[in-house]
Amino acid sequence: MFVRFDTPAQYVKGVGPQRAKMLANVGINTAEDLLKYRPFRYEDRTNFRQIQELTPGNETVIQGTISYAGGFSTPRRRVKIFEILVGDGSGAIPAKFFNQPYLSKVFSKGQQVILYGAPRMDSYSQGLAFVNPEYEILPPGSDLTIDTGRIVPVYRRVGKLATRSLRHIIFNLLQNLLESEDDPLPEKVLEKFGFPRRLDAFKRIHFPGCPPEQDPEAFLKELQSWRTSAQQRFVFEEFFLFQLGLQIVRRKREVVPKTREILVSDLIRERIKQILPFHPTKAQKKVLKEIVNDLCSDQVMSRLLQGDVGSGKTVVAIQAFVTVVENGYQSALMAPTEILAEQHLRTVRSFLRSTPYRVSYLSNKVKGKERKAILAQTKSGEIDLLVGTHALIQEGVEFKDLGLVIIDEQHRFGVLQRSQLMEKGGRPDTLVMTATPIPRSLALTVYGDLDVSLLDELPPGRMPIKTVLKSEKSRPEVYSVIRRELERGRQAYIVYPLIEESEKLDLRAATEMSRHLQQEVFPKRTVGLMHGRLSSSEKDELMDRFVEGKVDVLVSTTVIEVGIDVPNATLMVVEHAERFGLSQLHQLRGRIGRGSHESLCILMVDRVKSREAYERLDIMRKTSDGFKIAERDLEIRGPGEFVGTRQSGLPDFRFGNIVRDRKLLELARQEADRFLKSLIRSANDPRREIIRIAEEWRQHYGLYEVG
Ligand code: ADP
Ligand code: MG
Repeated sequence: MFVRFDTPAQYVKGVGPQRAKMLANVGINTAEDLLKYRPFRYEDRTNFRQIQELTPGNETVIQGTISYAGGFSTPRRRVKIFEILVGDGSGAIPAKFFNQPYLSKVFSKGQQVILYGAPRMDSYSQGLAFVNPEYEILPPGSDLTIDTGRIVPVYRRVGKLATRSLRHIIFNLLQNLLESEDDPLPEKVLEKFGFPRRLDAFKRIHFPGCPPEQDPEAFLKELQSWRTSAQQRFVFEEFFLFQLGLQIVRRKREVVPKTREILVSDLIRERIKQILPFHPTKAQKKVLKEIVNDLCSDQVMSRLLQGDVGSGKTVVAIQAFVTVVENGYQSALMAPTEILAEQHLRTVRSFLRSTPYRVSYLSNKVKGKERKAILAQTKSGEIDLLVGTHALIQEGVEFKDLGLVIIDEQHRFGVLQRSQLMEKGGRPDTLVMTATPIPRSLALTVYGDLDVSLLDELPPGRMPIKTVLKSEKSRPEVYSVIRRELERGRQAYIVYPLIEESEKLDLRAATEMSRHLQQEVFPKRTVGLMHGRLSSSEKDELMDRFVEGKVDVLVSTTVIEVGIDVPNATLMVVEHAERFGLSQLHQLRGRIGRGSHESLCILMVDRVKSREAYERLDIMRKTSDGFKIAERDLEIRGPGEFVGTRQSGLPDFRFGNIVRDRKLLELARQEADRFLKSLIRSANDPRREIIRIAEEWRQHYGLYEVG
């Protein structure tokens, strides 16, 4: 029976209802999904040897005839052993299988068999023997093998399905598959890159054969590192579709001109100047100009603002807000966590103190009457700026005339959430702000639906931050450093990591530490404890006291990771620093060095478990450039770890790796762009064409792939 790419996995030969369930658990639902279940490595089983030449310990393949097959149990340990003797004319060798009594139904005398494994010295037979080798019985007159005599794919187990079963299922599937008419890659792209067509490519990634003109060893190396043209094809395909999706999202936004009109007058420029207590940096001016140009153009803005911690992004956001509100539109400012959103509210309120603008706050914690009132005022246009968490994009929140949405710390929002926001109301202009979640080299490619602005300069007068590593031994010394800073009138943070799976433990460590510090170490100082379980008013109060200098030492769980801004705090102690990722450490360190005093970051380390952890800490010691740190973090940990898992906003690529394959990612971006442009050029009604492609794309690949 022939199968198509979209045939349900259950009907693929060798699967059936039970196995289909196991497969569905890992997202394999169709024949195509099965084919996309990629081998994680390959084994070369082409190395046929004569039995006479075999040496112990080397993986080899032999072919021969079974001259004996039988089972027995060891007398003492009662292990069931099934043994066969295989001869090939040059000699004979036994193969033993442990605890697989059903093999008596598989093997019989006279069969042609292929064995793969590493023979070893066997004391019972006083010579070489195979133990649990891979085997394959050749049907009479056939030489088509699946598991031996070729380079075989090795898969990760799925439920009870081990690599061998998967291999057989996929092998049979490939024999019965009908070539699909429409390749997701355009003909031109296939030609240009010399990629094989889809079915052929699937055959070559699962059951590769070395081309006659290539050196087998070099081929195997290419294969293991996923560099053959068939393998690269799938990496490219995945990136291409991802980029196409991003660009469709972007163009859908662009094709419809926006109806808002925003003008910048001298009066508005003057207002902005009055609000800022300092001169903007050159970088801030440049970026603001880019943003204002977008606001004034007739295309909806979707811009990413990248800037290191402390580079002054919030200030730019406030300037953009003033421009919009002065033109009579509302704005929304959204942060990924409550604590960050609250911090933004404080900052914004303090900057806007002397203005008539009405600022309000909304999160899931705002309930009842208060919520109702805020929703009503948002709808009627009484509120100019609504600050909050993702509650801002939930149903029921309606704006009278939303002109601008600012999203802070983008990496915690997915593309889907982002586009949901962007489609809200009258398609507002959107500014996404992020502190280096993705290195410069990748930002453009990964955020293909956004324009990118860069804040590559810190405000003047910042003192560099010194970073040191200390072990438990030096704790008394660390305390005296803290004491010295406090005596100078400065403040300190002490941060505890999130201990996986146990927020409680995490909290307990921080709680005990703050008690210890307060009672025994700094009895004359005020030690505060900040953690995620405090109510927002408690957090507010504590933060206010820290800002006012009434709390000297703030012990905290990682809730202070981003955004908190207290220039008088000059000391940061990170406990168990080895448990943090680089980007996170960088964010934490960004809490200090914000004023004109010299700052110190102490990374406390118990035991550096891995080389990788040491490398991470060493990078922190050597550089404070967020972009460099992000690049290194990406290199060391790979993209999965680097951007977090679910929250990253990046899809889980099956084939591609945005670090290893970054060149291909860029090429795919260019091709997707070219492809879409030529489609639009040749269409009578480009607008309808884009919407049609978008629909098709969504049906095939869904936004979940990019969100
Ligand atoms: P980010 O959000 O990029 O980490 P912030 O916007 O919080 O940075 O700014 C960090 C600190 O620098 C704040 O205290 C802010 O008031 C201050 N700041 C921003 N721009 C300037 C500037 N041009 N000159 C002096 N200080 C500035
Ligand atoms: Mg910020």
